[in-house]
Order: sequence, then structure tokens, then C-alpha cells
Amino acid sequence: AIEHRGHPLGGEKRRENRVVSIANPGKPPFDYLIVGAGFAGSVLAERLASAGHQVLISDRRSHVGGNAYDYYNEDGLLVHKYGPHIFHTNSEEIFHYLSRFTQWRAYEHRVLSSVNGQLLPVPINRTTLNRLYDLRLSSDAETAAFLLSKAQAIETIQTAKDVVRAQVGDELYELFFEGYTRKQWGFDPSELDKSVTARIPTRTNDDDRYFLDTFQVMPLHGYTRMFENMLDRPGITIELATDFEQLRDLRLASHTIFTGPIDEYFDFRLGKLPYRSLNFLHQTIDRERFQDAAVINFPSEDIPYTRITEYKYLTGQSHPKTSICYETPCADGDPYYPIPRPENQAIYKQYEALAKQQSDVSFVGRLGTYKYYNMDQVVGQALATFKRLMQQAGHVDQM
Ligand code: FAD
Ligand code: UDP
Repeated sequence: AIEHRGHPLGGEKRRENRVVSIANPGKPPFDYLIVGAGFAGSVLAERLASAGHQVLISDRRSHVGGNAYDYYNEDGLLVHKYGPHIFHTNSEEIFHYLSRFTQWRAYEHRVLSSVNGQLLPVPINRTTLNRLYDLRLSSDAETAAFLLSKAQAIETIQTAKDVVRAQVGDELYELFFEGYTRKQWGFDPSELDKSVTARIPTRTNDDDRYFLDTFQVMPLHGYTRMFENMLDRPGITIELATDFEQLRDLRLASHTIFTGPIDEYFDFRLGKLPYRSLNFLHQTIDRERFQDAAVINFPSEDIPYTRITEYKYLTGQSHPKTSICYETPCADGDPYYPIPRPENQAIYKQYEALAKQQSDVSFVGRLGTYKYYNMDQVVGQALATFKRLMQQAGHVDQM
């Protein structure tokens, strides 16, 4: 697996370029230093190199792909190391851009939630309500009327709690959202921005897909292969297992693109931005199927984990064994989620203002811009950043 032997484009080129650096002390050997080889960094590396620039892309991890990295485990099962990643987008531009680097398999994601001893569809839909309350709701209108009878009148919807209570009322909120959200974020939904639970709709029909986007696909040969195809081109040098701190003072490029945590780049000088972390427990089970859906959510606070994923649903792999992953949220560890709360946004805004004063660095990505972004949104942000960089440099023709 790539993780253990390092990336094939790593070592040698690095030493070569270090020599160049020493030979020409006045001129940096690269046009761009990109920190982080996830979606944000890799898209920018590909775009900039394809426009003729010399790019050094680095990551402190020993692999490319960032949090979307996948690998074959010792049993030959394709596993997402940092939890389940399902690609979905409404943007044709983003879908077509990524299609240059991978073929796809169609995949529609479905999730069940373990509530009151049953496994019920999430997002809450007509089936969820019929099963939970032993009803016979048969139309959208009937279901909408039922939900209206449960919903709470809330004048100004501000928090993640308000969003749900206004749609489905207290009981469904408590059963499906309260415990899950407290575990996931370490905060009560009343302390989190409404955008957190607004990600999950409520449906009056029986559509049990988790996403409704136009494009719902998985990279046919996995995410890591897609990243390798993106990065394997002239003009890109990859430096893995290397922290930005090791490169910072080497004058490797005149412009840095930083996709790690923005507060870390500035040595936390305006305070620490909180991130939520997760512990991933991967297991191989010696049978073909483990559970009835790709993901099962566990909202109860009596259970420490939030969800179990069975990867074969996502990857479409045929294998006599199956691999699953338990996700248990925690405060310390790798930063996975920016925490959407007004006070955190206020700190981020100060960092953003500081960043605007520096012309030699750009911040991109989920950690670089402290935004709870999906993969497609990060790709869109990276493509927009590329266009801006080219405009600033006067290369309008390369866009
Ligand atoms: P990252 O992927 O985090 O990449 C940043 C990279 O920078 C990392 O590899 C890190 O090691 C490196 N780095 C940071 N600091 C430094 C430093 N100082 N020096 C060197 N390297 C550094 N999105 C979806 O669209 N669908 C999903 O189903 C989905 N599921 C998810 C499930 C989980 C559990 C998580 C955590 C996220 C999920 N996402 C999903 C979101 C998705 O992971 C992100 O949108 C996307 O991967 C962000 O890409 P990025 O490049 O901004 O950041
Ligand atoms: N959520 C919940 N119960 C669920 C599913 C989601 O309370 O069954 C809330 C929870 O706060 C979660 C948020 O909705 O963090 C967004 O869910 P999503 O599945 O989009 O989270 P992600 O996949 O990004 O972890």
C-alpha cells in the first residue's frame, strides 16, 4: 500500500530540488509551495502545473489524498482511512473536472438510524414516520400535515436545535438529532450554528437517499488513484511526511498555498480555532455482509460512537470478507471538522483579515478557510482560487 512505501514521485526529486535551491540562492526553485495534498492542494497543484508552473506539493502525512485517502487493507478490502467519503455534487463543472482523473461508479448513499430498537431511514421521510409511529401515511400531503402537527413554531431560526424542532418537533429532534449531535460536536445543538443540522432535510415522500444531488458517484478505482492521476504530471514534485515547519524557511517558492489549519500557519497568534476530531476503529469481519445499509447511525448517548460504515456498499467491491469502521468523536487528535459556532467564526474572521494583508500566501480548503465544506465545495473553491491567482499574475489566457 502506498501509505507504507511513500509516494512514487517522492524522494529523488526532492533531493534534486534541494540542490537547485542551494545552487541558486537568489531565486526560489518553485513558483508555488502547496501545503497539504488533499482536494484543495491537489487540485491547485494540477491546475498550476498544467498552466506551466513549477509546483512543490507537501504533506505531513505519508500519503496523498488528505482525508479522502483510501487504501487496500491486509485482506485486500478497500478502506477509507479517515471515514466514509461519498462524492456528490450538483456542479457539472466540478464533476467534469474530476472526470479527467477517474472513471466513476454510480452510487446512491443510504443511511439507517438506530432508534427505539428499529433501523429507520435518515433523512426522516414518510417510511421513517410510518414505522416509528405505526402509521399509514400514504401521500406527501398527509405526511406534511403530520409533520406540521409535530413542528414547533420558532420565530427566528438560529441554532442547529431550532432548525430541527421547527421541522419535526421535539420528539423526533430528541430521538434522531440531540444525542448524535452532542456526541459528534461535544456541544448541545442549541450551541451550534443552524448550518450543521440544516445539512439534513426532512422529506414527505419515501425517497430514502441521503443525497439528492445530480451527480452521485464514487471513483471507480478509489480516491487515492484519482489523486495520483491528478498529481502525476510534469511540473509537480511531491514531498510527503514533511511538515510545513520543515520547509517554511527554505525559500522554496515565492507563493505558498496553505491548506492546513489557518490558525496554525499564524502560530495561533489570534487564539486557537477549535476543531472536532474523530477516532476511527477499522475492523475486518469474516463474512460477506455486516449490516443492512452502508451507514448506520447511533444517536443514543449510551453508545460512544456515532456511526458504523460498511465500505463495500460504497466501493462496490466483491469480497468474501467485509470491512467496517466505527467513528467515535473526540476533542484531541487530527483536526477533521471546523466547529460552526459564532465565536469561532469571529476568531476565523480575524485570521482571514490577517491573511488578506499577506500577498505571498493563499489559504484554501476545509482547514485553511475554517469551513464545513464537502469535497465538491473544496474542489470548487480550489478552482476559483486558481482563476484568481492567474488573474493576479496577468495570465488570463491560462484560465
Ligand atoms: P484535507 O483533506 O484535510 O487535506 C489537508 C492536508 O493538509 C492533510 O492531508 C494534512 O495532513 C495536511 N496538512 C495540514 N497541515 C499541514 C502542515 N502544517 N504541514 C504539512 N501538511 C499539513 N465530504 C464529502 O463530500 N462527502 C463525504 O461523504 C464526506 N465524508 C467525510 C467524512 C469524514 C469523517 C470527514 C472528516 C470529512 C468528510 N468529508 C466528506 C469532507 C472532506 O473530507 C473534505 O471536504 C475534504 O477532504 C477537504 O479537503 P482539504 O484539501 O480541504 O483538506
Ligand atoms: N445529524 C444528526 N443525526 C443524524 C445525522 C446527522 O444529529 O442521524 C446531525 C449531526 O449534528 C451531524 C450533522 O447533522 O453532525 C450533519 O450530518 P452529516 O451526515 O452531513 O455529517 P458528516 O457526514 O459531515 O459527518
